[in-house]
Amino acid sequence: MNINNIRANFPILSRQVHGKPLVYFDNGATTQKPKCVVDKIQEMYYSVNANVHRGVHFLSQAATDEHEASRRTVQEFIGAASANEIVFTRGTTEAINLISSSFCREFCKPGDEIIISAMEHHSNIVPWQLQESISGIKLRVLPITDEGEIVLEELEKLISSRTKLISITHISNVLGTINPIEKIIEIAHQQNIPVLIDAAQSVQHVPVNVQQLDCDFLVFSSHKIYGPTGMGVLYGKEKWLEKLPPYQGGGEMISSVSFEKTTFADLPFKFEAGTPDYVGSTALATALRYISEIGLDKIAEYEHDLLTYATDQLLTIDKLKIYGTAKNKSSVISFLVNGVHHYDMGVLLDTMGVAVRTGHHCAEPLMRRFGIEGTVRASFALYNTKEEVDILVNGIRRIVKMF
Ligand code: PLP
Repeated sequence: MNINNIRANFPILSRQVHGKPLVYFDNGATTQKPKCVVDKIQEMYYSVNANVHRGVHFLSQAATDEHEASRRTVQEFIGAASANEIVFTRGTTEAINLISSSFCREFCKPGDEIIISAMEHHSNIVPWQLQESISGIKLRVLPITDEGEIVLEELEKLISSRTKLISITHISNVLGTINPIEKIIEIAHQQNIPVLIDAAQSVQHVPVNVQQLDCDFLVFSSHKIYGPTGMGVLYGKEKWLEKLPPYQGGGEMISSVSFEKTTFADLPFKFEAGTPDYVGSTALATALRYISEIGLDKIAEYEHDLLTYATDQLLTIDKLKIYGTAKNKSSVISFLVNGVHHYDMGVLLDTMGVAVRTGHHCAEPLMRRFGIEGTVRASFALYNTKEEVDILVNGIRRIVKMF
């Protein structure tokens, strides 16, 4: 991996913030975009723009071709068996809302249970809580250790005859823990329970193949994998998507409409009501091709090296504690320095050009599990460097001295 060439692909990385070179360590929230992705958006609006699927004219067909080719790019990227299993959504959040709503409506009776874990992002908690009041389901929560690892032995105890689905994050956006999803899926499938994987923090860091994993659903957001905002992916095994009722109604998702009876379109369009974001889908496909060319294996290795370096350097700072010390970790480090509020740390680092995230990271139950209000989080991407880590570590040292 030639890091200088990679950095040159991301124009924003050469800008200054508060008169200092930008050090962008807020990649867990959103990644920066390579030039090819922004160029693709421009190309789509300047030369291809037309509404997809229902036009006979040249541009509409060209836009449709681009949009559907992007679906196949996503299919290949995650190793899905068919492009029909790829539903475009607005992001991870909408994808989980889609599944929770349609799945509970079709398969759950009051008292049925959905299992999530204690390290979930709010978007894999709240949609299920909404279903608690709509469908009468009950949420069960898989506990985690002080290191931030799932207590796997508890899973078999939590599973009951009422368990209808397990919905779990692949990688924690706070702790960086890479969960043993292969094992979880194996245990669940022994009892014929489907599994939804929240891959919002994983597809950009490690290779993911849905057929090898054998997961039933998998969701991720484009903006966290170098693609545009407002776009996301729901993968679902065809056998499940076929059975699920539509999530939203409108144009595009129908086969025929009359006031007496409406029938729905085939997969995946049944779940894509309204004009789809065909610019977003093509720009996402461009982002996926961009990182595939670099190679996710190489990205994983590079980021792991960065994680190890950053962890070692941060731990040289007195009174600094890292939250999330799982054996199998991705490039996210949450920490607190005793005596310095996470918010102050974030604001002061910002004056040095270093962008980190502070607060509960949309994981309030997880904060409560650790008895804290929030952390400082540095999350790395393929364009970050050890020199940038040094700037972060030196910055923290200066801040600690101030307090
Ligand atoms: N799940 C995880 C693990 C996340 O980290 C995030 C965002 O930070 C989400 C879900 C929600 O993603 P989005 O806001 O793009 O829908």
